[in-house]
Amino acid sequence: MREQIATLVKLQAIDSDIQEIEKRLGKVDGKMAILDLELEDFESAINEKMSIREEYQKKYRSLESDANMNLPKITKSKEKLTSVKTNKEYQALLKEIEDLKNVNSRIEDQMLEILEQSDAAETQLSEEKRVFEAARVRLAGEKADIEKTTEKDRLKLAELQTDFQTVLETVNPEILKAFRSVRSRIGNPAIAKVENAVCAGCHMNIPPQMYNELQRFESLMHCPQCQRIIYSDKL
Ligand SMILES: [Zn+2]
Repeated sequence: MREQIATLVKLQAIDSDIQEIEKRLGKVDGKMAILDLELEDFESAINEKMSIREEYQKKYRSLESDANMNLPKITKSKEKLTSVKTNKEYQALLKEIEDLKNVNSRIEDQMLEILEQSDAAETQLSEEKRVFEAARVRLAGEKADIEKTTEKDRLKLAELQTDFQTVLETVNPEILKAFRSVRSRIGNPAIAKVENAVCAGCHMNIPPQMYNELQRFESLMHCPQCQRIIYSDKL
């Protein structure tokens, strides 16, 4: 029985390793998706800055065309100045020219302001692009690391599964049945060490008589609290 228990302990260890790797492999897709999302966040930040810059450029062009439209009007009014007959008409024309010049001067002020904002947006955009590039490199590195670990895990998993099968074949069918039954009801670990009369599966004390019996390795025993298969640490 001692030998069979030792085999079960080995089987359990392999099984735990398999589960751990499977758990890690199960998280890979999620991790990759998180990295992709992070990159998308950077991309959308850049797109946002680009559309802000575009807005400024559009506003600038529209103001520029407003100012340009006023220029021929000013020239025309200036030409009329030479042919006016009365002082009143002359003053009216002068006022018209002055007003148009004022309008254009205000437009030019606005254009300057927009140019400044556009420059600031441009600076932000290049900063954003720099951050994006650094993030892209970092995230690609992280992905490569995950892929490397995943590849290793897959190989290790195949190896462990073979080991599991090999060890499994050396277990007595009755004992294996008990092991599987506990595993399906309680989960991992299905077998627990007992040290100083304490079950490592549930951390409860087992009765003294049972503890003594456990030292003899004569039969398969279960913890009265958690029902796991138990074995003495003197294995
Ligand atoms: Zn227990």
